[in-house]
Amino acid sequence: MSSKSRVRFLKTIGFKITLWYTLSVLLMLIVLGPFLYFRLRHTLNKETDHILFDECEEILQRIQDNNYTKDDLLRLIKRETAAMKYLRKSVRLYDTEQRSFIGSENFIAPYLKLSDDDIAKTVKGEYTLKKIWVKGSSSPYRLITRSVNIDNSCKYILQVAIYMKLTYKTVENMEENFLMLTPFLVILSIAGGWFLSRKSLTPIARMTETARQITGSDLKRRILYSHTGDELDELANTINMMLDRIETSFSRIIQFTSDVSHELRTPVAALKTGTEVMLSRQRTAGEYRDLLEHNLITLERMVKIISDLLELSRSDSGQNILHLKPFKLGNMLNELRKTFRPVSDSKNILSPINEIPNVQICGDEIMLRRVFSNLLDNAIKYTPPGGRVYISLEDRNDDVVVSITDTGVGIAEENLGKIFDRCFRVDTSRSREAGGSGLGLNISKAIVELHKGRIEVKSDLGVGSTFDVILPKNPTKKIYNISIF
Ligand code: ADP
Repeated sequence: MSSKSRVRFLKTIGFKITLWYTLSVLLMLIVLGPFLYFRLRHTLNKETDHILFDECEEILQRIQDNNYTKDDLLRLIKRETAAMKYLRKSVRLYDTEQRSFIGSENFIAPYLKLSDDDIAKTVKGEYTLKKIWVKGSSSPYRLITRSVNIDNSCKYILQVAIYMKLTYKTVENMEENFLMLTPFLVILSIAGGWFLSRKSLTPIARMTETARQITGSDLKRRILYSHTGDELDELANTINMMLDRIETSFSRIIQFTSDVSHELRTPVAALKTGTEVMLSRQRTAGEYRDLLEHNLITLERMVKIISDLLELSRSDSGQNILHLKPFKLGNMLNELRKTFRPVSDSKNILSPINEIPNVQICGDEIMLRRVFSNLLDNAIKYTPPGGRVYISLEDRNDDVVVSITDTGVGIAEENLGKIFDRCFRVDTSRSREAGGSGLGLNISKAIVELHKGRIEVKSDLGVGSTFDVILPKNPTKKIYNISIF
């Protein structure tokens, strides 16, 4: 493995999971091993003490209950110490002068004298327990010292000892087994950790592979689910949903770019052809003037499209900042009605002058003027001569509702949800003829939403349409960046 790929391997989640897994097992062994060792030793020691105490008690009772001679005592001790194959018991008796009186032949350390502490305690009726290491023995002895009272006075001092080999052997065996098992457990934890990490990371590897294959021109691919219902399935689902949205946005952008190019190419081609035809031979001043006037109209339309596009790009990049200030909405609508009067008159469209309440609202006057201009422009554009266009304003508690109603061509039910999309036009040729680019409603909706308002539309095909703009009188003084897509 080269040093580069070794570094890459050390950085993988698989390696880290395995490492953590192994470290956790090691930590568990380090904590559990000593705990089990000391716990077992402690329990076995306690058990040994119980046995020792019981054995001592039994001998003590016999001596106290029977008036034994020295020979009887010797026989008793012999019998008591003969059969103890595993516990290897030894017994010794002292007389009242604390001289070793009689003892079993196997007594652990005949040279061991009674300590002052033993004497003091036994005299008080207590007992002592000690661990004695004897030369040549691999394990210690446990020794109990008690007084033997006959007729309420201490007649002997009894010592019983048992060999702790069984206890020590058990603890040693456990220790050996544990140490033998540790490397196996560590190897098992490494293998287990690696296996588990591989198993749980396989879906991620699949996601990475799919993500690598996804390009701008191939957004159709989706991540396969493992149908386990776990977090990775959830992640795959989230990524797939994100890809759905990206694909939709991408296709809209592609559609938008092609629509915009088409939109701009048509007038540019018209300008070019017109100019070429004009230059093909000598023209009169009047003909040149006609061409220039025609070109000016085309250029004005292009300027409108370009300024709409700039507005959209500003809105998309979140640069559309509202400059909120109070203004009289009624005044603005009356002014707009006057501005559009020549256009409506030229189309023989009647716009009845009704009373518009002069409500004061807080908003971006320039942007809202653009919204109502768009709606009025559309109403006039899509209403045949002889029709009517109405403007009204309703003052609700916290909101105002501006309604622009026309008796025009109307919009089919299936198109009502699409008219706010970019570049959507119900009748492309009619709209283009009328100078529309399919951007106006999209921009209007974005501006109204920036004001925390909404636009609603009701329409009947061949009867007319009503666009209601619902605006809060006091939108919060924040910058709302809303994507139009
Ligand atoms: P355009 O510049 O083409 O008018 P808009 O975004 O303003 O673009 O409108 C989108 C489409 O919605 C229009 O092309 C038209 O088909 C439809 N539309 C908008 N307003 C009206 C209306 N008042 N009556 C009928 N159709 C309308």
